[in-house]
Amino acid sequence: MSSLAYAESLIRTIPDYPEPGIAFRDITPLLADAGALRAVIDALIEPFAGEFDVVAGIEARGFLLAGAIAIAAGVGLVPIRKAGKLPRPAASVSYALEYAEATIEAHDDVAPGARMLLVDDVLATGGTLVAAHRLAAKLAITVVGTAVLMELPALGGRTQVGDVHAVFTA
Ligand code: 5GP
Repeated sequence: MSSLAYAESLIRTIPDYPEPGIAFRDITPLLADAGALRAVIDALIEPFAGEFDVVAGIEARGFLLAGAIAIAAGVGLVPIRKAGKLPRPAASVSYALEYAEATIEAHDDVAPGARMLLVDDVLATGGTLVAAHRLAAKLAITVVGTAVLMELPALGGRTQVGDVHAVFTA
């Protein structure tokens, strides 16, 4: 089995979490395995090697991947946080969830024109990544790529976000 196939086998599906009817993809067993983690970080970066100056991870699981990508690729890191967590948010974008609204925020610590790779763990409906693209636009940051560990195609996120590099598809 290849190291990526092994990594995929470590993603656990938890039925009825966080709500009845939701099959939650739990990536923590994959994160806990050094070889699997290395394989997915390399696979996330591979199409964009040399093309980005900064990586942005979306709270909270996106942070885990972005931190590793930043070190592996030798670039800086921008955390995209949920509302109210940053001391001085420079840009803020609200978006609709199924029954509520969410807001993500970022600082403007990156030079305008920086080339950014946007990273999250899972692409579901795409609402989060669309909001992250809007956030980058507000900060005049160029997004050169969007990468996720796992895409859930049944939820149609790709039609919202556009071109997304997904290491795994469920
Ligand atoms: P979307 O905005 O695309 O509907 O949902 C994506 C966001 O919700 C991501 O930030 C992701 O962390 C989280 N998410 C949605 N479904 C899952 C899932 O099954 N597993 C994990 N790990 N995260 C999920």
